[in-house]
Amino acid sequence: MTEAHQAFDIVIVGAGPAGIAAACEARQGSKTVALLDCTPWLGGQIWRGEQAHAKSRQAQHWLARLQRSGATVLTQTTVVAAPSANTLLAETPRGALHVHWDRLILAPGARELFVPFPGWTLPGVVGPGGLQAMAKTGLPVRGQRVVVAGSGPLLLAVAADLRRRGARICSIAEQTPWSRLAGFGLAVAPHPTKGFQGLGIGLHLIGVPYRCGWWLTQAEGDQQIRSVKLTNGTKRLSLECDVLACAFGLVPNLELPALLGCETESGFVRVNEQQQTSRPDVYGVGEITGIGGVDSAIVEGCIAGLSAAGRSDDARRLSSRRASWQRFAQRLDKAFALREELRSLAASETIICRCEDVSREQLEPYHDWRSAKLHTRCGMGACQGRICGSAVRMLYGWQPNSVRPPVFPVNVGTLMEMPAETASAKPL
Ligand SMILES: Cc1cc2nc3c(=O)[nH]c(=O)nc-3n(C[C@H](O)[C@H](O)[C@H](O)COP(=O)(O)OP(=O)(O)OC[C@H]3O[C@@H](n4cnc5c(N)ncnc54)[C@H](O)[C@@H]3O)c2cc1C
Repeated sequence: MTEAHQAFDIVIVGAGPAGIAAACEARQGSKTVALLDCTPWLGGQIWRGEQAHAKSRQAQHWLARLQRSGATVLTQTTVVAAPSANTLLAETPRGALHVHWDRLILAPGARELFVPFPGWTLPGVVGPGGLQAMAKTGLPVRGQRVVVAGSGPLLLAVAADLRRRGARICSIAEQTPWSRLAGFGLAVAPHPTKGFQGLGIGLHLIGVPYRCGWWLTQAEGDQQIRSVKLTNGTKRLSLECDVLACAFGLVPNLELPALLGCETESGFVRVNEQQQTSRPDVYGVGEITGIGGVDSAIVEGCIAGLSAAGRSDDARRLSSRRASWQRFAQRLDKAFALREELRSLAASETIICRCEDVSREQLEPYHDWRSAKLHTRCGMGACQGRICGSAVRMLYGWQPNSVRPPVFPVNVGTLMEMPAETASAKPL
């Protein structure tokens, strides 16, 4: 085969915790295994930047196991299409690469959910996960006044990490009320690792106001954010800041599973107890099957890796651990369900699609995603609806319902490797 074609028994897309665990287990037999990731490093969102000096024991363990496993690791390899049966097309710094597989494990993770509000496009307004990722890769945050807002446990993890790096956390505003959060606390009880993690984070946040049942209504500034307005429905508060880190949870990256024809259920890839999708030769693991955190991602990765390598009995032994983390994910989902008020944060002139500058009032005449797209170009810019698609689902209940390759912007050279007939839209 030429350098532009490589073939493996098992190919895994996504080198986060789920993909790494899958690669380690799949490689234990005689199968050839490749692990692909678009970033230059391993570890996905949570272990990003820990390849050289892993901070957590869990990261150390899995990154070391991967190194010993003998799996082929291809970083800076972005999978953009599935041009023929059992073949992926990827873009690399050396050009297009065709990767052939017998079994495919999809572990592309999730992205942050942004709910538009007045001022959300100001410089200095970022996602908490995004800010943490930039801080981990060198963005200085020391001395910066940061407000962290939105929803989900990630807010606390990010706030603690930024504080360790010298940022001044002015406030954390969690839209979930205390009453629901207390219920979630009980759900953590069967998982002592989560309890200890929470305790560690809490210790780093002593003295930081954690406002539950509060959400932001506006970010203000001219060339840069200067302050934010928060409310709990009755009281109002204005806080000065240099950075606002705001997101309302995570949404799964479903573009690749959709291209491969994997069915979804309630917004996630549907899998069986062996993590097989509706296509038996394609497995789904990690955040694309449900937002459950790192431990859930790891156990699912192990099951898929074992199963794809033909060791279904070993995979079955992990069923009860998987079930326990699934219950945790369900409680997480329930506890951090988004409140109705967030749907009306965006004013008429608030931009919803920032790639194409489409405001809320421009979308008002339409009743579904397709007609809004055709008339306003909402979702047709560089991010291909990755940001505004989730926002319109939240605001209007519209379902962005198709995906067209390439799933990421590519060079013309890579585009030319894609047969024209494969460029049609697939249901999402
Ligand atoms: C921005 C962000 C920051 C987060 N920070 C934290 C944190 O600090 N603490 C915490 O507990 N949890 C954090 N999480 C949640 C955390 O991601 C999950 O709990 C867990 O890591 C999920 O693991 P995963 O393997 O499913 O996905 P991920 O860790 O997201 O890994 C997915 C990998 O797939 C790769 N990928 C995606 N699409 C393609 C493609 N087409 N081609 C090639 N590669 C691809 C990505 O580059 C990524 O490396 C964060 C999530 C996000 C979105």
